[in-house]
Amino acid sequence: MKSDIKLIDGHGKRLDGRKADELRKIKIEAGVLHRADGSCYLEWGGNKVLAAVYGPREAIPKHTQNPLKAIVNARYNMASFSVEDRKRPGPDRRSVEISKVISEALERVILIEQFPRTMINVNIEVLDAEAGTRCAGLTAAGVALADAGIPMIDIPVACAAGKIDGHVVLDLGQKEDNFGDADLPLGLAPRINEVILLQMDGHLTMDEFNKAFELAHHGCLVVSEMQKKALLEKYESVVQPEEVVQDVQPEESE
Ligand code: UDP
Repeated sequence: MKSDIKLIDGHGKRLDGRKADELRKIKIEAGVLHRADGSCYLEWGGNKVLAAVYGPREAIPKHTQNPLKAIVNARYNMASFSVEDRKRPGPDRRSVEISKVISEALERVILIEQFPRTMINVNIEVLDAEAGTRCAGLTAAGVALADAGIPMIDIPVACAAGKIDGHVVLDLGQKEDNFGDADLPLGLAPRINEVILLQMDGHLTMDEFNKAFELAHHGCLVVSEMQKKALLEKYESVVQPEEVVQDVQPEESE
């Protein structure tokens, strides 16, 4: 949608004061839900997202089972209160599409061949939305899967870049998404450098596309480090090396 709002000023500053290549503030916490096999709470700018993983467990009904691999079933849901105009509860075209692209992205990294006839459920609940929720959701799902101990070739991560007032910028905020020229969400398996999700809304020239892709790729690498830090923070506090060392000290003989 076009508007008269100026999204970036003459000094390259955006509406929220960010520079073109700056991410919004991100906070990631692993293992926040007790009943899920793995979980994550993530804040990304004004987005608040919970991801919960259940499985792998026997796929039911049985006819859905695949004898060669696990089925990855990601379900993206926006709470009614997460957006300005109350959203009608339940799935709509948009959430079905996002669930599908996230499921496919996750299938690329999970070692699904190790778990035939099973299903891995990944629930992504958007509690507050402020643009970029599919990237926030996929990033949270990556941490939740790792927290569940599900074998993966990589922890998936996502970040978007886009174009506002003719400038290519990283990580669009709400007004930038609404009134900007283009949005390019990228999902990445960062260690093996493989693209697992790529969508585009709006128009970019080839040069702009390459620049936006580079920015989003860089964003993914930064967020990937935050994911690892969140997982380390959880698991480092579970096992204290000093305690283990004390437990295995041999008793002195008299
Ligand atoms: N949005 C909304 N109502 C809706 C769907 C989306 O207000 O029913 C807002 C929400 O803030 C969302 C943003 O529009 O984050 C951009 O939505 P888009 O479809 O581009 O997906 P996203 O950027 O969240 O992955």
